[in-house]
Amino acid sequence: MDDWKRVLAESITKPKDLAKHLGVDPKEVEEVVGPYPMRITPTVLFTIKAKGDAIWKQVVPDAVEMEDFDAPDDPLEEDTDSPVPHLVHRYPDRALLMVTNQCPIYCRFCTRKRLVGKPGFLKKGELDQAIAYLREHPEVRDVILSGGDPLLLPDYLIERILKALRTIPHLELIRFGTRVPGTLPQRITPELCEIVKQYHPIYMNLHFNHPDELTPDVKAACGRLADAGVPLGAQTVLLKGVNDDPDIMKRLMQQLLLARVKPYYLYQADLTKGTNHFRTTVETGLHIIQALQGHTSGMAVPHFVIDAPGGGGKIPLLPPDYLLNLDENGAVLKNYENKTYHYPQPNPQPDAGRLRELPMVGTSAAGGLCSLGAMDE
Ligand SMILES: *Cc1c(COP(=O)(O)O)cnc(C)c1O
Repeated sequence: MDDWKRVLAESITKPKDLAKHLGVDPKEVEEVVGPYPMRITPTVLFTIKAKGDAIWKQVVPDAVEMEDFDAPDDPLEEDTDSPVPHLVHRYPDRALLMVTNQCPIYCRFCTRKRLVGKPGFLKKGELDQAIAYLREHPEVRDVILSGGDPLLLPDYLIERILKALRTIPHLELIRFGTRVPGTLPQRITPELCEIVKQYHPIYMNLHFNHPDELTPDVKAACGRLADAGVPLGAQTVLLKGVNDDPDIMKRLMQQLLLARVKPYYLYQADLTKGTNHFRTTVETGLHIIQALQGHTSGMAVPHFVIDAPGGGGKIPLLPPDYLLNLDENGAVLKNYENKTYHYPQPNPQPDAGRLRELPMVGTSAAGGLCSLGAMDE
């Protein structure tokens, strides 16, 4: 057996093992792991330092997951946007392909809580159907492999999928969304890197939520992918009690850059049933972006987005006070130190007509962006 499969098999999946390693009463979690499975890899287990800490909260089942009655199972309405099984085509030029339901760990806040942990992966016939759909849709130039976690597939299946995708002439980018490097770094083998290298351009967005996740082994795994020529981004979910703090978030973003990973998205938590105890206010995320922008490397600042409930896709949010006013004379700007600056418009203004059609931002806006009073508390 591959070494990584052996390590994965040593993960905690049963309440009685959880009791043994973390002193949790198995009765408290038994009813939760039925509908919402648990897996905690050795790497993650050894990163937990105390009961209820930032790593614990992400992976140890909690009875409150069962108390969420009204929330939807599929708030992003991914099932509605699915033309063939396992494929979500929501944006004009890119599509998401869910290739497995398995993950190295089962995040308690998962948006796809309704799906993950169920056995099985994309079957051959389903892959053929997805490839046929993509081939008939020349507008799709970017495919994101997701799941579950695509890097939990064995090498031969990863290679089969990449090879099939690369038969589509109009497909430019292939991306992976994965939490494997941060939770099962043993999976990033030289053999896997060799396979991936054959199908460039391949990008990977790695899921990280807390600076403690970047252990030396995890950083080394990221380095192996970077050495294989894979540009690495990070996706982070804003989570109450885990990373809803500007100092923690700054440390995370700086650690990611040290691991050669560029922060890409910071997500406001979705409304998914069984995860609502993790949600923060929207202002929390805006405060964090404000604490990063200008105060540390611009490379360390992710886009803060809300994936709109009802299938509207990702919508970016910026703290409201950078553009105080914009008119034909110029822009009134505020920097990270709260100092105000004026940038004059060019003269004449070739696109002034178009600009004036935009809703005004800043001081002249009637109830617009500046009404977010909570930012000033
Ligand atoms: C996030 C997402 C994408 C990719 O969005 P980018 O902004 O290009 O990273 C594509 N499809 C779906 C359904 C998504 O949720």
